[in-house]
Amino acid sequence: MTGKRTGRQITIRGIVQGVGFRPKVFSYAQSNHLTGWVRNISSGVEIRISGAPSDIDAFVQALRDTPPPLARIDEFCSEECPAENFIDFQIISSQSEEGEFIPVSPDIALCDDCKRELFDPKDRRYLYPFINCTNCGPRFTIIRDIPYDRPKTTMAGFTMCPACRKEYEDPANRRFHAQPIACPVCGPQLSFEIKDKVVAIKDAALNLARQFLKNGKIVAVKGLGGYLLACDAYNVQAVEELRNRKHRTNKPFALMAADLKTVENHCHVSASERSLLISVQHPIVLLEKKVDCRIPEEIAPGQRTLGFMLPYTPHQELLMLKDEGFPDVLVMTSGNLSEEPIAYEDDDAHLRLDVLADGFFLHDRPIHIRVDDSVVRINRNQSYLVRRSRGYAPNPVLLPVEMGSVLATGTELKNTFCMTRDRYAFLSHHIGDMQNQETLNAFESGIEHFRKLFRIEPEIIACDLHPDYLASNYGRELSCKQNLPLVEVQHHHAHLASCLADNGWDSKEPVIGVIFDGTGYGSDGNIWGGEILIGGYASVERRFHLEYFPLPGGDAAIHHPTRSAIGLLWQNGLEWRTDLPITSFTSDQERSVLQAQLERSLNTPLTSSVGRLFDAASAILGICHEASFEGEPAILLEAVASDTEKGCYDWGMLETSIPTRPLLTAMLKDIQNKVPTPIIASRFHNSIIQLVKDVCTTIEKQTGIRTIVLSGGVWQNMYLLSRILPLLETSGFRVLIHHQVPTNDGGVSLGQAVVAGQKKKE
Ligand code: ZN
Ligand code: ZN
Ligand code: FE
Repeated sequence: MTGKRTGRQITIRGIVQGVGFRPKVFSYAQSNHLTGWVRNISSGVEIRISGAPSDIDAFVQALRDTPPPLARIDEFCSEECPAENFIDFQIISSQSEEGEFIPVSPDIALCDDCKRELFDPKDRRYLYPFINCTNCGPRFTIIRDIPYDRPKTTMAGFTMCPACRKEYEDPANRRFHAQPIACPVCGPQLSFEIKDKVVAIKDAALNLARQFLKNGKIVAVKGLGGYLLACDAYNVQAVEELRNRKHRTNKPFALMAADLKTVENHCHVSASERSLLISVQHPIVLLEKKVDCRIPEEIAPGQRTLGFMLPYTPHQELLMLKDEGFPDVLVMTSGNLSEEPIAYEDDDAHLRLDVLADGFFLHDRPIHIRVDDSVVRINRNQSYLVRRSRGYAPNPVLLPVEMGSVLATGTELKNTFCMTRDRYAFLSHHIGDMQNQETLNAFESGIEHFRKLFRIEPEIIACDLHPDYLASNYGRELSCKQNLPLVEVQHHHAHLASCLADNGWDSKEPVIGVIFDGTGYGSDGNIWGGEILIGGYASVERRFHLEYFPLPGGDAAIHHPTRSAIGLLWQNGLEWRTDLPITSFTSDQERSVLQAQLERSLNTPLTSSVGRLFDAASAILGICHEASFEGEPAILLEAVASDTEKGCYDWGMLETSIPTRPLLTAMLKDIQNKVPTPIIASRFHNSIIQLVKDVCTTIEKQTGIRTIVLSGGVWQNMYLLSRILPLLETSGFRVLIHHQVPTNDGGVSLGQAVVAGQKKKE
């Protein structure tokens, strides 16, 4: 070819390694007659090309418009340079630079191409449980360090066979540089163990695991990011046995269905929910039960929804193969005892799960970091995260501005931590409730791993204001030890900031934050959680809050909603009537003890928590008097609420401290008048919605602010969310809710990080 030739130097940042980026570049270069090279660098991908200007433009256009499906381009720098005399186009070896980093891809569910091969008798990986390719398979859970190359993963111990090596080195092959590439000859294998003894391997292990499950046994299944416990979901005895062994009373179990059709047999599945179930993340999706759902009530007592996921690894696909007499739905719950973190190391799993499982279905590919299954629901056709973990972490949230390096240690419940660098916020996978040593260990090793993986040396530490949280104390000690500035962020300010960052908010305009939550330490030392704030990243002002009421026993009330109820009634001088449904749950003695405690203010901290208000309402109505997990009373209250009732209770005059007496008085009157519980539950919810509209309208009149942020655990309540969004929007407000991180405490570390980053700038 004759004519003018020129060159181009391109660097791309984002999620561009381990996602088939270089082969794509290779094929675009070939089809546009370009010569040059592409290579991974620590900060992304670097490309040098020479050719005709129009071909180069076409190449750039193709790469920008149609990158590989799993890639995410955050930065695309393209510079003219002189043409060079390359002979052809090549993928050259990786270059590692000191201190540079790139985002690491999350783990990706089995892709359609691999699934086809898995069930193709003519394929050399037919029924091979660890089939994967450039577009799917383990990533984050096997990476020890970057750049992402096989020796730096837990696949290092498996030497590629000649056939795999050939595929790995062929740019035209769909397994080109697929780091976890494996086959039956050279890759990981299955085994089945009983009491530490291997009793079967390979196919026989799979068959034995299925036999166990079919017979109602509980099997520990080593998966992608940890161990899961599985049993036949239709077998009530097995389910109850699993509950007993795990010490898990009522918390719902996640389910894995053989296929989409099976999920649709039991639950309503909308188009967006279907796409989410089969997305690259394959999360647990919360779905509304059908009336003729055959999943036993014991799976999720009292709930309207079930959490379903589809097999996301080839070995789960094989485990769930449809067959006469084999259940098409299995319980797949985290492999742990009640509140401990999920087991992921083989020795530890045996130690901890021996008493929980009848058999172990294992493989010999090590898991480097534990990652739980993610939990997501659909709101307005978009993902709304409940737990952000496998498939999502460690994808960074792109920040509106550069932040410097902050380590935010998160909160006590549903802990995640967050580390920032440049414009990236790396929110960790779900760590858990920081109330035991194991979870603290998981937290500390997670932070170490992130520091190394993303080359982050924190310059600022951010933590929750709470004086006793383990995560806060970790932050305080680290700040002392390393002589780093510490920013203690009020919990609900962090919620607000988290939602702003989640929405890429880059304005200095103040917003109204409606932060309804379970628990958060307030700047006055009380337990907050019903907060209407005005402000932004840098600071907030507390404009309204729920009137304080005493909480006998403090945070322990989370598990005893009757205490919230008694405290609330006492505060409002309302009589404990014996016709209240709650009465049957409490003994006279218990009530008089609590009464005395309240009168003498013994360990009765004050709270403005809307979460506790829901607990109290749930208890007063006799719906829930003992909570086996935080938020259970509210979830059950939401589940009984009537969908059609429009009535609501009056709040009276709105002052800085929002009184609860009018609401309670009206509710008690309804109870006295024998109004059905679903109607009362519904009116209670409607009152909260009305309150939000009223306070926001008041603030708007005073300040002109028309942007509202909804954050905090209470906004997981879909009855509230689905009704409040249209109401506020038709009133002319712009409403920001969470999209990339959870609205519950799992998203708080992001908020802490941006608040601290902002403070440093000023
Ligand atoms: Zn694949
Ligand atoms: Zn092989
Ligand atoms: Fe919170």
